[in-house]
Amino acid sequence: MTKKLLIATRNQGKVREYRELLADLPFEVLSLADAGLDADVEETGETFAENALLKARTYARLSGLLTWADDSGLAVDALDGWPGVHSARHAGPNATDADRIGILLQRLADVPPQERGAAFHCVVAIATPEGRAWTTEGMCAGVIIDEPAGSGGFGYDPVFFVPDLGKTFAQLSSREKNAISHRGIAARKAAALLAQLTATGEI
Ligand code: IMP
Repeated sequence: MTKKLLIATRNQGKVREYRELLADLPFEVLSLADAGLDADVEETGETFAENALLKARTYARLSGLLTWADDSGLAVDALDGWPGVHSARHAGPNATDADRIGILLQRLADVPPQERGAAFHCVVAIATPEGRAWTTEGMCAGVIIDEPAGSGGFGYDPVFFVPDLGKTFAQLSSREKNAISHRGIAARKAAALLAQLTATGEI
């Protein structure tokens, strides 16, 4: 029998990407909207894993479904890992991506190029309605540059430069970005984990 898997996000782009990634597994993939869930979960954790687990466990309990949730963000070396779990909200609720990038570049104004290392992190959590849970992680290292470049992606992509490729995340196609991104890595690990848990009858 096909099992249902709830993807706990309101971002339709993420639902689409995760659906594609999970296409070969025996799951019927539902979004929060599909499951009729409009409750919001406040991301109060101090780590990406805490927030991903909080979302996965809460929505699994509310829906009675196996649930997949993620949390991600940017950690800048010279700023002791800031903005980290505050990546989406550090400039307030009405700020734009450009506002958040502007503040980041201001804070890095005196930091020389060789000290501008940063990494995107993503944790995917999978939880059952009974409260069992698993996590996978992905990380992608890069450098924060002063001049935004590229128009793809979202968030901090235009200032996140990947030295190996000589491009920012915003200059990559979504396929190229997925192949190396924190989210792509964590999600492929989570899909493999789901396949294994299904094969062993654990879920
Ligand atoms: P969330 O995991 O969807 O809550 O994302 C948290 C925040 O981290 C986003 O709002 C972005 O500011 C940032 N972020 C996460 N992943 C990426 C990415 O792939 N590119 C650019 N920014 C990202």
